[in-house]
Amino acid sequence: MALPKQGRSPADVLASLDTMRESDADWRRGRTFSLVYWATDEHTKLLHDAYGRFFMENGLNPMAFPSLRRFETEVLATAAELFHGPDAVGSMTTGGTESILMAVKAAREWARANKPHVTRPKMLVPTTIHPAFEKAAHYFTVEAVHMPVGADFRVDLAKAEALLDDDVILIVGSAPSYPQGVIDPIPALAALAKSRGILCHVDACLGGFLLPFVEQLGRPVDPWDFRVDGVTSISADLHKYGFAAKGASCVLYRDRALRKHQFCSYSRWPGGLWASPSMTGTRAGGALAAAWACMQHLGEDGYLAQAKEILATTDRFLEGIRAIPELQVMGAPVMSVFGFTSDVVDVYGLGDAMEALGWKLDRLMDPPGLHCMITPVHAPVIGEFLADLRSCIGRLQAGEPAPDGSAAMYGMMGSLPDRGAVDDILKDFLDGLG
Ligand SMILES: *Cc1c(COP(=O)(O)O)cnc(C)c1O
Repeated sequence: MALPKQGRSPADVLASLDTMRESDADWRRGRTFSLVYWATDEHTKLLHDAYGRFFMENGLNPMAFPSLRRFETEVLATAAELFHGPDAVGSMTTGGTESILMAVKAAREWARANKPHVTRPKMLVPTTIHPAFEKAAHYFTVEAVHMPVGADFRVDLAKAEALLDDDVILIVGSAPSYPQGVIDPIPALAALAKSRGILCHVDACLGGFLLPFVEQLGRPVDPWDFRVDGVTSISADLHKYGFAAKGASCVLYRDRALRKHQFCSYSRWPGGLWASPSMTGTRAGGALAAAWACMQHLGEDGYLAQAKEILATTDRFLEGIRAIPELQVMGAPVMSVFGFTSDVVDVYGLGDAMEALGWKLDRLMDPPGLHCMITPVHAPVIGEFLADLRSCIGRLQAGEPAPDGSAAMYGMMGSLPDRGAVDDILKDFLDGLG
């Protein structure tokens, strides 16, 4: 596709954009359960306005835009306060993946300095950990060794301990995990790490900006933050349950010494002295401004009110699903993220039947399940969602075939002992996109 010979008017271009989005996921009507975290129209407008004000500014050079530096410092200080780390410092990043990449990279550099005998570093991660850790393993050559989870979908400690050896530099847990929304036994994992003199990272990309308020509302939350002795770093996404604009996450370290291992500098470049805290060079000023504006606008009372609404909505989803005898909620989810499965119908067929009705539910594997992440946008659709679930189950049980969808592929995958071939298929899929 060549450039248009003659440029088009803004109105014409915008009209094209609107047409092109017509078949996009319909997140505003609560039909999707991931990807978009929406609070209210007023909140979204504030994010737009704040982002727009700093649309052109670049967070690359901290000296050029003191405003951006201040947004970042204050957002991180607020996160440190929420996570109970009095000396914690960190960096804002573009997302959970970058936060995780940075934590693993910092751990690797820390080990090079403090554990020089380790030439092939490893990290212990739960099987349920977010694949950003597989990406970090791939990019930074830190081998990911998987700790099995128990029937409650939390790390099985005895099995984890058996995997420890002298090459392990980092132990990781989730707060909560993406698939089942449960918190790993962080105090035990952190104690294990501390007893070995190694690091412990908590992936709170989902829970970082919701769990503190869930706890304040008096719900039981297993300890996961810097109050836990031995936790050395935490990743938490502002652009998920922090309700900031996309492109905003943070990674925090218990102290400054550890954060230094994240940084990169070069003093021999003909272009001048150079130093960079994280993966990216240019950094969108808007994302920093919107995250700051978001925290200031919501405040503690706003986050609390929102957490209350999210938990109440989640409770109604969970009660409704538990009342359907053919379905089982997986484990004991702590906040607004959960998986459910069925011992009667094929859940992948159920997922495809629901999708035909417009509901986009992510699929879980090993064991099979369907996945929900609840936000305020889902409160009005609970009744319709549960009714559709029941009717889809009824039709599947009556022998009606599920519509074509992902069931065939997921079904086949379950029977494959070696997923290497599937990895190739997945890369071919990416290759085929464009
Ligand atoms: C979303 C998520 C990540 C990765 O975050 P991105 O912003 O998508 O890069 C990491 N861990 C968990 C538990 C997540 O849910």
